[in-house]
Amino acid sequence: VDEFDLIQRYFRRPAPGVAVGIGDDGAIVGLPPGHELVVVVDTLVAGVHFPDDITAEDVGYRALAVNLSDIAAMGAEPAWMTLALTLPEADAAWLDGFAAGLFGLADRYGVSLIGGDTTRGPLTVTVEVLGHLPAGLRLLRGGARAGDVLFVSGTLGDAAAGLADVDAKHAAARQLRHRFLRPEPRVGLGLTLAGRATAAIDISDGLLADLGHVCRASGVGAVVETERLPLSAALLECVGFEQALRYALHGGDDYELCLTLPPDADLDEPEITRIGTITAEPGIRLLADGRFTEVAADGYRHFGDAP
Ligand code: ADP
Ligand code: MG
Repeated sequence: VDEFDLIQRYFRRPAPGVAVGIGDDGAIVGLPPGHELVVVVDTLVAGVHFPDDITAEDVGYRALAVNLSDIAAMGAEPAWMTLALTLPEADAAWLDGFAAGLFGLADRYGVSLIGGDTTRGPLTVTVEVLGHLPAGLRLLRGGARAGDVLFVSGTLGDAAAGLADVDAKHAAARQLRHRFLRPEPRVGLGLTLAGRATAAIDISDGLLADLGHVCRASGVGAVVETERLPLSAALLECVGFEQALRYALHGGDDYELCLTLPPDADLDEPEITRIGTITAEPGIRLLADGRFTEVAADGYRHFGDAP
């Protein structure tokens, strides 16, 4: 199949409400009145961002999920996406699976594919998601203030354990593996937080690394009470408490939200857990058994430590 047949067959689908979609030199969309455009993009390289042996369906799901997570962290509503796909070959079974994973998730969040690019080369998937939010409701990293309360959504550490621990015989291990392969972007929570939370970030590189970004952007520090960290029963069962704590603090790929709320915020939100406080003093400290330890913010870095 040539590039045009491939696009036609796998990627050209009805895109309701889109002025100009796939087929022209560019796409044209209209924003709802009074809204601002939010744009995010993420590239997945085979062997770097996902293991070579995961299914095409998982690759399609994940390529969109990580972007929807960024959209959620901005407090925006996702609407459109573009797809730049680099493939070693046009394998029909692979493309079927990829499209099923991608569109399965896209349909759940009402996201239309409006364009892209198709090239030959080592398997690389770039998805860009475009969304919108009412002007004034943007949710940024830089708004945390001393005295704000620190929260995370869901449970932490599962995905990192699921990537490392692949003993698929146990139900708990399969659950962790699923959290790695199929992260659920917190889009609904992001929309709830817009205009309420003072800062937010999605946890892709690990809680301490990503909280570090919030602290630096906001010019504040944080205390994390380790006994409050939400750990799943599956994680505790598979790796025990000490290792679970390590995964929760340093492990990436959970795609939960880390957020700050003013101390007087009245938000009844069962998906989030209070884990600490924002401080005027910079740096992140862990509080356990009444004792503080200073931590270095660390996470996965593609190019190693900066000099
Ligand atoms: P051009 O040469 O003008 O860049 P292309 O031949 O690359 O155009 O693409 C033709 C049309 O198909 C464009 O509308 C483009 O956005 C779309 N397209 C190409 N690849 C993809 C893809 N992988 N997914 C969705 N749309 C795509
Ligand atoms: Mg092109």
